[in-house]
Amino acid sequence: VFGHLARAPEDPILGVTVAYNKDRSPVKLNLGVGAYRTEEGKPLVLNVVRRAEHTLVNDSSRVKEYLPIVGLADFNKLSAKLIFGADSPAIQENRVTTVQCLSGTGSLRVGAEFLAKHYHQRTIYIPMPTWGNHPKVFTLAGLSVKTYHYYDPATRGLNFQGLLEDLGSAPSGAIVLLHACAHNPTGVDPTLGQWAQIRQLMRSKGLLPFFDSAYQGFASGNLDEDAQSVRIFVADGGECLVAQSYAKNMGLYGERVGALSIVCKTADVASRVESQLKLVIRPMYSNPPIHGASIVATILKDRNMFHDWTIELKAMADRIISMRQQLFDALSSRGTPGDWSHIIKQIGMFTFTGLNSEQVAFMTKEYHIYMTSDGRISMAGLSSRTVPHLADAIHAAVTR
Ligand code: PMP
Repeated sequence: VFGHLARAPEDPILGVTVAYNKDRSPVKLNLGVGAYRTEEGKPLVLNVVRRAEHTLVNDSSRVKEYLPIVGLADFNKLSAKLIFGADSPAIQENRVTTVQCLSGTGSLRVGAEFLAKHYHQRTIYIPMPTWGNHPKVFTLAGLSVKTYHYYDPATRGLNFQGLLEDLGSAPSGAIVLLHACAHNPTGVDPTLGQWAQIRQLMRSKGLLPFFDSAYQGFASGNLDEDAQSVRIFVADGGECLVAQSYAKNMGLYGERVGALSIVCKTADVASRVESQLKLVIRPMYSNPPIHGASIVATILKDRNMFHDWTIELKAMADRIISMRQQLFDALSSRGTPGDWSHIIKQIGMFTFTGLNSEQVAFMTKEYHIYMTSDGRISMAGLSSRTVPHLADAIHAAVTR
């Protein structure tokens, strides 16, 4: 009965790894996938995560019962505190409802399903470009997707004027997807002053912010700094949604740990919103998994572990920042034509190189370097050893 099915294309991001795995070259390099690698090119499990797991395993009182539909209560409370700040009035006034979801993606999907069912405006504006999965997540949840200007290829920076114009002409009440920090794929973030202007414009038009926070702590190395955008919006007392992921900042990719928070105007509304979120979640996956959320809760509630986490997180962020500098220096020393300063200006895991799809194809064919066709490279996949190879490839691609 399925004989008529055409073969579906590989996912454009995950497909890069599929192609990489097939390559036999000893110099092959995977800069496609957004997962942290050590200087030796290995995946990293944080020491503090190992310690938390140890604590959990040795606690014989722990059982494997189902969690509630909304997940682990401690995890939810601590996740809200992490993103909104310990002294957030919204938390103190019980205006926030937080539910544990399946990492960032699942949090976005649950939020989108909730909005499609209960919010009067079904249009969501997403930045151009954005993470490739965003349009699919929102469309399949029943929202209608439009884009707003974000990236300016000429400056390889923010097209702030275009952004303000597009949001300024969006219909009142429309939903706007904002990357909380370390915009993927461009690595370009608004400044705090620009965030303040975006907030003012959005609130004046009644646009509903939906933050995607997949990189808190990963951009600057500081958890509070990377949450500033969200906190600017929450401070004015208005509503917003936030999808949080612990994939990157705790290295818990495969554990699928994340949270959706909805900030409401009153505690009463927040509790009714939560009751409706349960109706969204129950028929989707019933309730979330227990292990990853327990690891996160163990770390967040223990002062020592929390402190150790911030040190390891900063070390990851610093290694990425150092890769930016090394790649920039390597291109400068080769005299590679063009201005490459965006490599050190952009933020977070990715550099949006400005290389076009032909140049990317050339680098893959001749240098066995794998990346998405939009020219995005994961700085976390680079090391001091592989920077020269990448710089050679970029140099060859732009001087060809
Ligand atoms: N949003 C953005 C912007 C991302 O880059 C990612 C991960 N690539 C996610 C959401 C979701 O990641 P996960 O579901 O693994 O938490």
